[in-house]
Amino acid sequence: MYPAQFDYHAPSTVQEAISLLTRLKDEAKLLAGGHSLVPMMKFRLAQPKHLIDLRKVPGLSGIREDGGALVIGALTTHYQVESSALLRQKCPILPEAAGQIGDPQVRNMGTVGGSLAHADPAADYPAAVIALGAELVAEGPKGRRAIKADEFFKGLLTTALQPDEILVEIRIPAWPFGTGMAYTKFPHPASRFAVVGVAAAVTADGKGSCSKAGVGITGAGTRAVRAKGVEATLVGKTLDATTIQAAAEKAPEGVDVQADLQGSVDYKTHLLKVYCRRALEAALARARK
Ligand SMILES: Cc1cc2nc3c(=O)[nH]c(=O)nc-3n(C[C@H](O)[C@H](O)[C@H](O)COP(=O)(O)OP(=O)(O)OC[C@H]3O[C@@H](n4cnc5c(N)ncnc54)[C@H](O)[C@@H]3O)c2cc1C
Repeated sequence: MYPAQFDYHAPSTVQEAISLLTRLKDEAKLLAGGHSLVPMMKFRLAQPKHLIDLRKVPGLSGIREDGGALVIGALTTHYQVESSALLRQKCPILPEAAGQIGDPQVRNMGTVGGSLAHADPAADYPAAVIALGAELVAEGPKGRRAIKADEFFKGLLTTALQPDEILVEIRIPAWPFGTGMAYTKFPHPASRFAVVGVAAAVTADGKGSCSKAGVGITGAGTRAVRAKGVEATLVGKTLDATTIQAAAEKAPEGVDVQADLQGSVDYKTHLLKVYCRRALEAALARARK
């Protein structure tokens, strides 16, 4: 299928892109890597009259440290996230998630900001940014604002971004010494999207107890969520097999598990517990290294 006709705009600054969004309103769509939007346009599920291409706007991609935080530009590709030495050292959950996205073509073109703004319920990054306690920075006509990852994903393909806002960067706070992180997923065999994905960051104190935990879940429901029950079961407890199993049992709490061609509610509920246990075990093993 060919997309419906559209006008193409290539702004050279964020302000120019925002002006176009403000003027063209819901007739316009931002274009980043195109790996969610273009397929939707080809299926005519999206028929924007104007495309505003962000790829020629300088300063929107790259990974850097700012004080204690890590900052990832929205136009940074999945491959850049996957291969970043800085992220591998300081925030390995993101390279691990990025490396499991789709195939090399998708990872070379798709962007972290495009994925988060699209809010596909089976996307990988949403679980990771929730687990990490990241902030998503949006820029609009009134300037910049930071949105907590927990408050960003509102529902199926729906986020807290306003129609005239652009997601410009993702800010990840530093986690304490003794933290291990892992992302595990049960991938769809064709697309590699997450049937279930669990991101876990676990901090162990010197005595083997959990002092901090962040767990995000994607895939099974209509939006990514924080696994509050899992976190509450971990914090303050000795990080042994019994605690981890008890915590993993809480993974389905708060997830609006959906039945579809990939599995029933019962099956996905089971997968959530299994993949949560695996993510926690892997994170803990890394925390102890
Ligand atoms: C075959 C295939 C397999 C895939 N497998 C996976 C997978 O396993 N896991 C996974 O997570 N994803 C997967 N994806 C999706 C892929 O990761 C996309 O790249 C991603 O979802 C969208 O990023 P993009 O840069 O391509 O955005 P685009 O397609 O360009 O845009 C997507 C949406 O976000 C909006 N948008 C883009 N950038 C911004 C911004 N900075 N601010 C505000 N709005 C913005 C656009 O207007 C559009 O509505 C797959 C895609 C394909 C085609």
